[in-house]
Amino acid sequence: MRDIFAALDLNETNAGAWSGDGGWSNDTTGPVIDSVNPTTGEVLGRVRSATVADYERILVSSRRVFDQWKITPAPKRGEAIRLVSEELRKHKSALGSLVTLEVGKIKAEGDGEVQEMIDIGDFAVGQSRMLYGQTMHSERLLHRMYEQWHPLGIVGIISAFNFPVAVWSWNAFLAAICGDVSIWKPSPKAPLCGVAVQKLVNRVLERNGFPGIFQLLIAGNELAEKLVEDRRVDLVSFTGSTAVGRKVGERVAARLGKSLLELGGNNGIIVDEFANLDLAVPSIVFGAVGTAGQRCTSTRRVFVHESRSKELEQRLLRAYSQVRIGDPLKPETLMGPLIDDASVQRYLQAVEKAKHAGGTVLCGGKTKPPGNFVEPTIIRARAEWEIVQTETFAPILYLIEYQSLDDAIAMHNASHHGLSSAIFTDNLRHAEKFLSALGSDCGIANVNIGTSGAEIGGAFGGEKDTGGGRESGSDSWKAYMRRQTNTINWSRELPLAQGIDFKV
Ligand code: NAD
Repeated sequence: MRDIFAALDLNETNAGAWSGDGGWSNDTTGPVIDSVNPTTGEVLGRVRSATVADYERILVSSRRVFDQWKITPAPKRGEAIRLVSEELRKHKSALGSLVTLEVGKIKAEGDGEVQEMIDIGDFAVGQSRMLYGQTMHSERLLHRMYEQWHPLGIVGIISAFNFPVAVWSWNAFLAAICGDVSIWKPSPKAPLCGVAVQKLVNRVLERNGFPGIFQLLIAGNELAEKLVEDRRVDLVSFTGSTAVGRKVGERVAARLGKSLLELGGNNGIIVDEFANLDLAVPSIVFGAVGTAGQRCTSTRRVFVHESRSKELEQRLLRAYSQVRIGDPLKPETLMGPLIDDASVQRYLQAVEKAKHAGGTVLCGGKTKPPGNFVEPTIIRARAEWEIVQTETFAPILYLIEYQSLDDAIAMHNASHHGLSSAIFTDNLRHAEKFLSALGSDCGIANVNIGTSGAEIGGAFGGEKDTGGGRESGSDSWKAYMRRQTNTINWSRELPLAQGIDFKV
């Protein structure tokens, strides 16, 4: 652990607020957050929360930096992200290990998260030369119309514990090439990741003359709410639970601000009578067990055709018996702990609720002390049960039998969430139906690939209680800019639109 701290320039106690004007805060009056290793329960390090004075400094500094940054040519802004991306490449293993230490995901997934930062960094560099607007033909003689995209301003990024570094980069890198300055409020369950990333980007940005475009606000809910309600924050990008996201969305809407909401998921896979189980089984296991079921895209519901139900059940049970649970830093481990005891309790309650509703626990269902370890669990269930309709952030998979594809799609879409979905089938008609307007109602719909592990090139996000936001690839950059429509009259007349005659 010492090596990781040294490589990332972390101390035993760290400041949690960084502003472009004041640097790291030396205000010691904010409450101290302990960063607890969920694998061992030991305190990894401490971070001092920001104070109200820090908050003000960060807001003022962000606006000042924005005034310069917004007129910096976009490809130059891309250059700043290229440098950050290079720095991340150098520190991939150390930062990946810190993710593992702080949130308990296995080392391969911790490193994978940093790789995702590098990938979105590369994507953002290219995008910085492609902030395209459209031109339109005006209905008026000798007029020209076009639209252009301008920087939006200050972007507040509030992130969840389970992707403690990647979610920041999805937002911050695109915001930066779009000319915005971002203020990051990380999860209090992963504060060291926030400090480490800020230190890493500071080094390269200060050295290259781009200071202050990323600012850090490690804080409790009071300052998080202040950020949400602050009219100086032009976009609030929130990633987290539906319950908190709903409040955030309402508060931002009350001040007519912009929000980007990336909330919970209750993701389903349909395994039909034509499915290739050699593809379906490992995808379901990775989707349900990966990150101990603590991904927004984790597979929680599997709808299996009655003709394949027994076979799928047996193969899943065989695969689950081989999942190696333990220290996530060890290369052989496939599943680490849950983030904290409250999550363990929610896992146990969900298993009890499912049993109470009539579910059959096929495997798992128990804790694996010491620490926050639990057994990956499969429960034969029915789609309409309340607990099956709930996102429990733990490795619990509900197996649900169906008779017709239409029924399976209806059960799948009955969820309030709408993030990620998949079908396993070798039948072209079934695959196309699932992807059509008659099929999945989610933001992500896959064929013969599971629900989790999205690539950065596509737009990421979902419908309904998932919040409707889109981040990462495709044209998600537009959320970080403001659109302006321009009409230029180069004639000597003044014709009005719609042919309106208005002469004085
Ligand atoms: P959470 O909602 O408890 O916390 C998320 C963030 O909100 C944290 O930074 C937290 O400090 C902050 N917060 C808490 N109360 C707040 C308030 N009143 N005002 C403003 N901010 C507040 O979520 P979590 O437990 O960290 O993460 C798990 C949840 O996040 C799951 O539901 C998961 O599906 C979701 N998630 C979604 C995505 C996605 O892209 N759709 C990605 C990752 C996680």
